[in-house]
Amino acid sequence: MKLLAGKNAIITGASRGIGMGIAKVFADHGANVAFTYSSSEKPALELQEELLAKGVTAKAYKSDAASFEAAEALIKNVIEDFGGIDILINNAGITKDNLLMRMSESDFDSVIEINLKSVFNMTKAIQRTFLKQRSGSIINMSSVVGVKGNAGQTNYAASKAGMIGFTKSVALELGSRNIRCNAIAPGFIETEMTEKLDEKTVQSWRDGIPLKRGGSPEDIANACLFFASDLSAYITGQVLNVDGGMLT
Ligand code: NAP
Repeated sequence: MKLLAGKNAIITGASRGIGMGIAKVFADHGANVAFTYSSSEKPALELQEELLAKGVTAKAYKSDAASFEAAEALIKNVIEDFGGIDILINNAGITKDNLLMRMSESDFDSVIEINLKSVFNMTKAIQRTFLKQRSGSIINMSSVVGVKGNAGQTNYAASKAGMIGFTKSVALELGSRNIRCNAIAPGFIETEMTEKLDEKTVQSWRDGIPLKRGGSPEDIANACLFFASDLSAYITGQVLNVDGGMLT
C-alpha cells in the first residue's frame, strides 16, 4: 500500500545521508518530492533522476537552510512547481564539534543557524499555506544528543534541543487547524556525518546500543513515513527516538 500517494513533500538537505533515504522511501510511497542541497549538486541531480524514474514528480533546489529570504523564495517556487505542499521535513544539519573551551563563536553560531534557525525559516514560510488548506505535517530532525546532551557538542546539542521546544510549541499553536508537528531523535545513524568520528568513538556509541548496530537512513525514513502519513493522524507534539534503544 502506498501511504503518500499524490502528496507533495519538501525535504531540506537530501543530497546525501538521512535526507536522501527519506526522499527515496517517500517516492516509493507515491509522494512527489522537492528537496534541497547546499553544495552537493551532482548527487542532488542524480537523486532527482532516480526519483523521477520511480514515476513521481521530483526536483532538486539549491537553497541555504540558514537564510530566511531563501526559505521564503524556496516555498514559493516549490508551490509554483508542484501545485502545493503537504509535508515539510526539516532535515538539513551540520556538526562543528569541539569542547566548549575550544569552540569558536562562529562554530556555535553557524550550527545554530543551519540546524535550528532553518526550522524557523521553513516553518514560518510554509505556515500560511498549511493554515489555508487546514492540513499539513511538519517533521523536525532532532537527535538523541538534543535529549541527553553530549560532551564536545554544546552547539549541536543546543540546536537539537531547541528543535524539540520549537516542535512542541508549533504543535500547540497550529493543532486546531489540523497541522501536526513532530520530531524524530535519531541515535547513531551511519552517514557521512558519523563517518567523521574516530573508530574508538564509533565503537563506544555502538556498545551503548541495545540492538548492537548503527541505524540506517531507511530506519529514519520509515519513522518519517509514519509521521507524514495518516497513520499518525492523531499524533502531534511528540519526539520519537529512533536509536536502537540507546536512550532506554
Ligand atoms: P549528512 O550526511 O552530513 O547530510 C547533511 C545534509 O544537509 C546534506 O544534504 C547537506 O547538503 C545538507 N545541508 C548542510 N548544510 C546545509 C545548508 N546550509 N542548507 C541546506 N542544506 C544543507 O547528515 P545526516 O547524517 O544525513 O543528517 C541529517 C540530519 O539528521 C541532520 O539534521 C542531523 O543533525 C540529524 N541527525 C543525524 C544523526 C546521524 O547519526 N547521522 C543522528 C541524529 C541526528 P550538501 O550535501 O549540499 O552539503
